[in-house]
Amino acid sequence: MARATHESSAISGGEERYRDRDARTVNFEAAQALAETVRTTLGPGGMDKLLVSDGRLTVTNDGASIIDRMEIDHPAAKAVAEIADTQENAAGDGTTTAVVLVGELLAQAEELFEQGLHATTITNGYRLAAERTLKALESMAVDIDPDNETHLHELAETAITGKWNANAAAFLAELAVEAALAVETGGDLELRRITRQTVPSGGTRDSELIDGLAIDLGNSSTSLVSPDIDLPRRVADATVALVDDHLTIDTVDGMGSLELESREQLERFREYEDGVYARQAERIVDAGADVVFCQGSIDEPVRYLLADQGVLPIERTRRDELIKLTRATGASHVAPVDALTIGDTGTASAVERRTVGDRELAVVRGSERTDQVSLLLRGSTEHIVEEMKRIIDDCLYVLQAAIEDRAIIPGGGAAEAELARDLRTYSEAVDEREQLAVGAFADALEVVPRTLAANAGLDPIDAIIELRNRHHEDGVTIGLDATTGDLTEMTSAGIVEPLSVKWRAIASAEEGANLLIRIDDVVAARHEESEDAHEHDHDDAPGGLHAADEGYPWALGHSMGH
Ligand code: ADP
Ligand code: MG
Repeated sequence: MARATHESSAISGGEERYRDRDARTVNFEAAQALAETVRTTLGPGGMDKLLVSDGRLTVTNDGASIIDRMEIDHPAAKAVAEIADTQENAAGDGTTTAVVLVGELLAQAEELFEQGLHATTITNGYRLAAERTLKALESMAVDIDPDNETHLHELAETAITGKWNANAAAFLAELAVEAALAVETGGDLELRRITRQTVPSGGTRDSELIDGLAIDLGNSSTSLVSPDIDLPRRVADATVALVDDHLTIDTVDGMGSLELESREQLERFREYEDGVYARQAERIVDAGADVVFCQGSIDEPVRYLLADQGVLPIERTRRDELIKLTRATGASHVAPVDALTIGDTGTASAVERRTVGDRELAVVRGSERTDQVSLLLRGSTEHIVEEMKRIIDDCLYVLQAAIEDRAIIPGGGAAEAELARDLRTYSEAVDEREQLAVGAFADALEVVPRTLAANAGLDPIDAIIELRNRHHEDGVTIGLDATTGDLTEMTSAGIVEPLSVKWRAIASAEEGANLLIRIDDVVAARHEESEDAHEHDHDDAPGGLHAADEGYPWALGHSMGH
């Protein structure tokens, strides 16, 4: 058993060790504290948080961003943060829900422990309950037509209501839907085709969707060379070359550091240089390019030569942008420039230079392959545009989930209330010992409507009682409309969520809670105990507790049951 190993050597004098009840208390408390932190952000009534780190301020209402930026030391809280992270990466939404659910499942488990239930009974009960719940959730889902703009708009808006003022949220949801529909093909939404550029100037409503790939020439390292040369603002039907190289004289040749003593030598060096520059420009011109995006810098003589022959040179294009450009234009990125041929170029119906606020943009519009759009997000400050970006991302992930799965469920706590009702019926058929745990899982699910009500300033207990009654009578889809405070039919109120987001949130909450419930031993372990111990010197802090900033200073012992 793993625990025995830790016992034998991990403990040194004065170190903390928790077992059984204490271990659980410590873990549960840490996990619940994290849940408590994000709880108040759940749903439209949720409050914003101001995060301070290294002097940088972030104002956000997004549970995932909050957890992401928090300094978390305790291993149990870390485990919950990992659940949040997984949820965010896998579903793009539902993070707060998952974390709040874990917290509540642990709170319920605590009571079950007090009633004398064994950890295994609780985890088995939770597992049964989760299986039942996920099935019930699937059968509750309603199919949608992925081209139905109303549905998409409702989904996007539900994902972000309360994250911004209502008008701005509706506007951003609309923008996200437009972007999604512009690149959606046959039930497939590739988010990498949507580029978001933030421009901290102007008003939110100046934000726009651009057909094509927008490359920020001011913010990214990309820059348009030689403002002194008269370069075109717009090149129509452009042949585009992408050079993953720099158009400079290579000092590796040794020429750059050559001591030039005679006039003759200097003359010859100049000739050499001119030759290199001329060849570089020639390659690009010969490939038929009208616009060249270059990953490195472009020396001035090359710029002149290019501009002179009607080629628009753009230097220091980030590699990720070059990759996007390959998709947008069909060009391949080539290095060195000598290898460039006509076959490597791509096309764009237009390449335009645009000034937005204080930014210069290059907008590359597609030709036959219009498979890139860009969202230009504008707002008065950096904080605002960054939060707008998070909000847009929330919308886009939800839209992707809905477009790809075509299945939605009612929001506003309706799904959770219905699932709780179903579970309570189901629990009657469950083995006596586990019945309590299944019932507890049902109670835990209600944390969602309860929190939505509390965050909307309503009495959570009254709201839950009324919600339960309504679900007993008729309404599978009755939930709380937090903007009005009424219990109402969620689908007609347009408060809907993608099935997959909720599915994952519940599944990972169950896994996370069970993981922590199974732990009966928390040991501060020496770093040698960990598997990668051989990579480290014996530089542990006195007492054997390894410096906490480097991974896992704790060992989690799992009880194997009985
Ligand atoms: P998460 O990180 O879990 O996505 P959110 O803060 O985005 O957390 O809140 C999502 C919850 O808010 C969902 O349960 C959703 O149904 C609910 N919700 C969204 N809009 C409304 C609304 N108008 N009324 C009530 N609940 C809403
Ligand atoms: Mg959300």
